[in-house]
Amino acid sequence: MNKNYDENNIFAKILRLEIPCHKILENDHALAFSDINPQSVIHVLVIPKKAYLNLYDFTENASISEIELLWKLVNDVIKLNKISEKGFRIISNSGDDGNQDVPHFHVHLLGGKNLGRMIN
Ligand code: AMP
Repeated sequence: MNKNYDENNIFAKILRLEIPCHKILENDHALAFSDINPQSVIHVLVIPKKAYLNLYDFTENASISEIELLWKLVNDVIKLNKISEKGFRIISNSGDDGNQDVPHFHVHLLGGKNLGRMIN
């Protein structure tokens, strides 16, 4: 585990079932659940089940099967919501400049409406 990983972050608590989430889907290596403060009609968070700080830490240190199953789960949520053709947006905030609030790697999947320009 990355020495900077805070085991008391909110997503670590969700993974330990200490606090509830609205689960959408899961597989052996990843969990998808609704964002508590949705920024679009569809706003799902996809996280690895093991402890990684951000996308860089994940891609540097996770196994190929962890990486594969995380992105597979993103696609499964896209399929479940039938938004592969209309489109969607993936965001992963990292660190201070990315304004990451929760220090456990997560992918935001947004869709269900036209999301406007990426950065206004
Ligand atoms: P970020 O700024 O990329 O770290 O985003 C963190 C996201 O986690 C925000 O969109 C929050 O609304 C969301 N969030 C925080 N706490 C919870 C929770 N308990 N369940 C679901 N989503 C959460």
